[in-house]
Amino acid sequence: MHDFKKICREKKMKVTPQRTVIYNELLNSYDHPNVETLYNRVRKTFPDISFDTVYRTLSFFNDIGIAEIIEGLSSTRRYEGNTQKHYHFICQKCGSIYDIENVPFNFKVPEEIELNYDVRNTRVLFEGICKNCSSD
Ligand SMILES: [Zn+2]
Ligand SMILES: [Zn+2]
Repeated sequence: MHDFKKICREKKMKVTPQRTVIYNELLNSYDHPNVETLYNRVRKTFPDISFDTVYRTLSFFNDIGIAEIIEGLSSTRRYEGNTQKHYHFICQKCGSIYDIENVPFNFKVPEEIELNYDVRNTRVLFEGICKNCSSD
């Protein structure tokens, strides 16, 4: 877990109660929520917080590297606080996003790409039908 206050100090960002709650909610959400879902969770603590504040704060968290946006989705932007390298499995039926951690999977960048581009990062996304959906 990140030391939120320390990161804020490093990034010269003011630690506000709102930001702290948004960050804690994100860290404790394991369902890769979208902004609206997080907004509803944060509102339980701050009934007056605006959707825009939550939206902008999440984008900002992403900019400074403490929140990740799940790439590869055509639907609304989904966030997570887990910034450790891991993969995702997305169910095409229910839309659930599952974390795949500690599974050895070595994606090798094809040589042709390495020769022509300076690859800094790769993202792998598995899509299919999850266990909950394949049973019915
Ligand atoms: Zn499913
Ligand atoms: Zn994840």
